[in-house]
Amino acid sequence: MGILQDQLYAHSPIRLQNWLISLYGIKLYRERYGQYYEQELERLRRDPNEAAPDASLKHLNEFLQFCAQHNAYYKRLFKEHGITLPLESLEDFKRVPPLEKETLRTDETIFSDLHAPIIGVTGGTTGKSIQVRFTEYDYQIRMAHLDYFKEQHGFYRGMKRASFTGRMICPRTQKNAVYWRYNAPMKQMLYSAVHSNPMTIPHYIDSLNEFRPVALDGSPSDMIEIAKYLKTHQKTLAFRPIALFPTSETLTPSGRSLLEEMFQAPVYDQYASSEGAPIVTECEHGKMHLRPEMGIIETDDSGEAFVTSFTTHGTPLVRYRIGDRMTISEATCSCGRRDTIIESIDGRQMNYVETPEGYKVFEGDLTAAVGVLPNSIIQIQVLQHKIDEIEMLYVKDEARFEPGHEVALRQEVERLFTTRMNVFLREVKSIQKEGNGKVRVVKRLYT
Ligand SMILES: [Zn+2]
Repeated sequence: MGILQDQLYAHSPIRLQNWLISLYGIKLYRERYGQYYEQELERLRRDPNEAAPDASLKHLNEFLQFCAQHNAYYKRLFKEHGITLPLESLEDFKRVPPLEKETLRTDETIFSDLHAPIIGVTGGTTGKSIQVRFTEYDYQIRMAHLDYFKEQHGFYRGMKRASFTGRMICPRTQKNAVYWRYNAPMKQMLYSAVHSNPMTIPHYIDSLNEFRPVALDGSPSDMIEIAKYLKTHQKTLAFRPIALFPTSETLTPSGRSLLEEMFQAPVYDQYASSEGAPIVTECEHGKMHLRPEMGIIETDDSGEAFVTSFTTHGTPLVRYRIGDRMTISEATCSCGRRDTIIESIDGRQMNYVETPEGYKVFEGDLTAAVGVLPNSIIQIQVLQHKIDEIEMLYVKDEARFEPGHEVALRQEVERLFTTRMNVFLREVKSIQKEGNGKVRVVKRLYT
């Protein structure tokens, strides 16, 4: 993101910033949409349901062979643990020890010995950032899968899109109420997640009404801000997008239904991560699918996920402890795709409330508690002030919230704990975002 950190950018007039964004857009365009991208997208369009019974093992063996040849870390690891390739079965794969975040962050031998010019950086809630490298091939295959996912829902590359981004596209001190920049090569209006708040939201809505995007993507908390504003002020949008594609934050069921109501468009979720986790996408039947050529996701008894991603040749992720919790389903989906179904993605492993008894109540369980109410709560945040005291902040949907809902919600939350935990609820107008423009569902405020 060199161009955006540049002092030159920060001090340029908006017109010049739009030009610089577009210039950067051309660079991204070339990296993303080359021959690998085109070939993969064509392949997906031709054979949408390809999934032979042993597809996972075949793709896994190819990837592990690559690691054994081009990656010093895995070469050593396989030798130490007596892993011989190709593996006979997925059962053998369990003998490969998990890759830890700390290894990814500190061990230089994790980078493969080939040209991998595309850098991915994860912020992470721990404050420690991890840098990974992708080859152009990796990146283009990922883009093809994401674009194919959107095509399934009617959005094609070249259509106008609005994207909510946590990147610093406008200087923090900007006086002008223009919180968006235009990336012309991709017909993409970028909206700053960092600048959106209840005061600035009307400007965002005006801009969207003028731009009339076919789809919206990016941080869902900003789309929710917009939906809340529309609802409160009994307004409607002057356009109707064909779909919303939120990324990078956990979307609650109530947040989702508010988005669908106010944008009058279906929401389709996806899961990926900047480290390069396998892409999981939602089908028209509302199920999250993992294709066998993307990677493998395993979970342990506690629901912690380990991901292996075949589009990470630069920094291979093999049984990577990604820090998310998931539930994998054995069922098949009525859409007919014969791949792995991820029943639920239950949020970050580290986002939990610690109880006085020493057990953990995870973000997913806390947001699920809201499900006891008929979509009358739009957003929540749980602040843990002490080991035995939590406060749940909630934003209500004015039209649906009834007296008695708060009591019902508190009882539901209390069921997750013993009587030693003191549970308080407080209504707020909005949930404050972190510096990166995202909302954290669980925050621990003591050390
Ligand atoms: Zn499906």
